Amino acid sequence: MDGKGVVLVTGGSGYIGGWCAIALLKQGYVVRTTVRNLSREAEVRARFAKQTDPGNRLSFHAADLMADAGWDAAAEGCDYVLHVASPLGVAEPKDPDELIVPAREGAKRAVRAAIKAGAKRVVLTSSVAASSKDEGPGDWLADESCWTDPTDRRVSAYAKSKTIAERAAWELIAAEGGKTTLATVNPALVLGPVLGADYSESVQVVERLLSGRVPGVPRLGFNIVDVRDVADLHIRAMTAPEAAGQRFIAAGAYAWMGDLAALLRARLDPAAAAKVPTRKVPDLVVRLVGLFDTDLGSVAPGLGRTHDFTSAKAQNLLGWRPRPTEETVIDCAKSLIAEGLV
Ligand code: NAP
Repeated sequence: MDGKGVVLVTGGSGYIGGWCAIALLKQGYVVRTTVRNLSREAEVRARFAKQTDPGNRLSFHAADLMADAGWDAAAEGCDYVLHVASPLGVAEPKDPDELIVPAREGAKRAVRAAIKAGAKRVVLTSSVAASSKDEGPGDWLADESCWTDPTDRRVSAYAKSKTIAERAAWELIAAEGGKTTLATVNPALVLGPVLGADYSESVQVVERLLSGRVPGVPRLGFNIVDVRDVADLHIRAMTAPEAAGQRFIAAGAYAWMGDLAALLRARLDPAAAAKVPTRKVPDLVVRLVGLFDTDLGSVAPGLGRTHDFTSAKAQNLLGWRPRPTEETVIDCAKSLIAEGLV
């Protein structure tokens, strides 16, 4: 087989995993990817084929975060492992372990398999949710030295799952890593073109604005990062010698939902943007509705505050450059429209 090396990407059916696999294939790597069930292979192959011709450099393995089967075989002979798969959860589950256990145990399974295979490096997709300061009302700017406190009861189950999984991976590498090194990529809210109907929950921010599923715009903001730039940072973190043992925040500019709504109205055809809300929703209304609507309830604590993340480290150490937010948001919207999803 030709190629620059063999890379296992876990969760090839996912948004970030898919774009990582595509970027690696475009750069000439041999790519293996895991899905929970091989019945999804044809669908995922078809998604990738719209972006690049993988030739004979793409193969599929079955592996579930919650079971041992398949992990060693998937990692055997790999030079690198990108461990991307993990459950997402905007809404709070009744039991936080629904997210924590697969995230933590899956990270341990992927890292163990990489060590056993003698891979040079594992890149774990963590999150800014694992790199936050406190959950209080004040504004702050966080970098890679910050760690979310998973014992804080205000921290969401998803943020706990990402923090605990990332900690577990670092502990495992420290104890058993040998020649296998670890780096993490900690993305902010990931947007950009979708690969199909099965898109990540993060894309709902744009989908809800376009489809008018939100009656108005709440005072919520986040750092946005393009899925293609997140894939690029994974590959930089995988190959750069100086990335070993490092965490890298992947975050572009901080944007408010009101700015995103205005951007969609300004840059899309008027018909495509017709349902994008113009009204602002007062904080009190979001909090009240959030008492009954778990999706809104989970975002209400973020109202009006600026919890900002810097990606200066990835830019300075790895030469990574996030593209402008406008391009990311508009490409995301156009892909949803082109796929007939809004
Ligand atoms: P996604 O599209 O929902 O992809 C999640 C992937 O994880 C899917 O491939 C999914 O497989 C897989 N997965 C979930 N549970 C699994 C299990 N028990 N066993 C095996 N695979 C399982 O979400 P995404 O946005 O690409 O997220 C990928 C990674 O990025 C996650 O680690 C997430 O925490 C992280 N992240 C995402 C964002 C964001 O804004 N999207 C931000 C920061 C970090 P199925 O297709 O079978 O469900």
